[in-house]
Amino acid sequence: MATMRVAVVPKAGADFQLIEREIPSPGAGQVRIKVQACGICHSDVLTKEGSWPGLQYPRIPGHEVAGIIDEVGSGVTAWKKGERVGVGWHGGQDNTCPACRAGDFANCVAGAVTGISYDGGYQQFMLAPIEAVAHIPDGLDPADAAPLMCAGITTFNSLRHSGAGPGDLVAVQGIGGLGHLGIQFANKFGYRVAAVGRGPENESLAKKLGAHHYIDSKASNPAQELQKLGGARVILATAPSSKSMSEIFHGLGRNGSMLVVGADMAPIEIPGAALIFGRKRVQGWAAGTPSDSEDTMRFAALTGVRPMVEKFPFEKVAEAYARMTSGQAQFRVVITM
Ligand SMILES: [Zn+2]
Ligand SMILES: [Zn+2]
Repeated sequence: MATMRVAVVPKAGADFQLIEREIPSPGAGQVRIKVQACGICHSDVLTKEGSWPGLQYPRIPGHEVAGIIDEVGSGVTAWKKGERVGVGWHGGQDNTCPACRAGDFANCVAGAVTGISYDGGYQQFMLAPIEAVAHIPDGLDPADAAPLMCAGITTFNSLRHSGAGPGDLVAVQGIGGLGHLGIQFANKFGYRVAAVGRGPENESLAKKLGAHHYIDSKASNPAQELQKLGGARVILATAPSSKSMSEIFHGLGRNGSMLVVGADMAPIEIPGAALIFGRKRVQGWAAGTPSDSEDTMRFAALTGVRPMVEKFPFEKVAEAYARMTSGQAQFRVVITM
């Protein structure tokens, strides 16, 4: 019996257990992936701490997976052994609900989530349904591809559908796991990019990533600063603070949109009149489909957009997870096999 190493959460709130398991065989419509790298995302807290309703244990987290197909199940014809692939948050869809019938798989009402509905990438081999698999282009390192499957797709996909065009002022609020990618994508999309961070220490990094302007939210009022620049067409709100989103909303120009991609549980407070005058909107955005992941990675490979990662060997998964929850990582934590 061939075995592999896995990092499993035995029950909600428990420590990771590094154990041996039998290497599973892919079922019908599945591929087996030899995992090379897996990002540790803040959403993995849902699996680790049990805050996702109905989550069943033991469970292996991880929805930023990069690896190589090493076996395919019956009925799988479009995917081959040896192909480089990734798996993100979108873990599959039911293909029958109204959203799926409309081709809107990302909004499937019974969609599976990788590392929540089934075991994710904190293991040496992982099974995935083909609905969840994305091609990784040549020239993209697995440790770079992994975070693009979540933080990357979220910022790329929300910005490309935001309505902003070349030269438009786009603000990226928060310079962290999402924001540092958002700034790079916004720059490569040809926007005029204003990065909004806390304190002067982030300015040089923000500009290196592609920001044309830097706004220190401790030293100034970001909404007023954005208005001085003409008002933002889009604000990509990545820092999970409803309070700061309620404030920076007023930096939008006419027809502007605030895209909410990071969240705390507090309400965002915006006066109705502030939405009406200038025809503004607030929109949420979650990652996307594997097809969107492929677009994200292809664009990153083409333009040089890369996540900043801190790599940990698989055996140090507990340390890597603690690094992620510390909030001190610059910026994505990735375990490598
Ligand atoms: Zn994630
Ligand atoms: Zn569906």
